[in-house]
Amino acid sequence: MTIKMTRLFTAVLLLTLASCAGTAEQESPMDTTSPTGGPGINISPDLLATTIDPICNMDLAQSKITDTAHYNGGIYAFCSKGCKEEFQKDPAKYVKQ
Ligand SMILES: [Zn+2]
Repeated sequence: MTIKMTRLFTAVLLLTLASCAGTAEQESPMDTTSPTGGPGINISPDLLATTIDPICNMDLAQSKITDTAHYNGGIYAFCSKGCKEEFQKDPAKYVKQ
């Protein structure tokens, strides 16, 4: 009886450990996607100077923000890296003062 109980306990313990390791492995790739500039940045629209992509005029409140840039004390969001690069060539051209 005691041996059976111990075996059951060990099995449960192993299952718990296995499921814990499984979740940890699933969580880490999700954590690394956002800071490296992968698809989609989680940024509050309140922090942005405007939710409109200054290059292509896309409303980023409705779609994914891929990249952001700081200019003139404000944060500008872009739908793609290309839009950000275009913005950084001549920010004054796209920001209304
Ligand atoms: Zn864009």
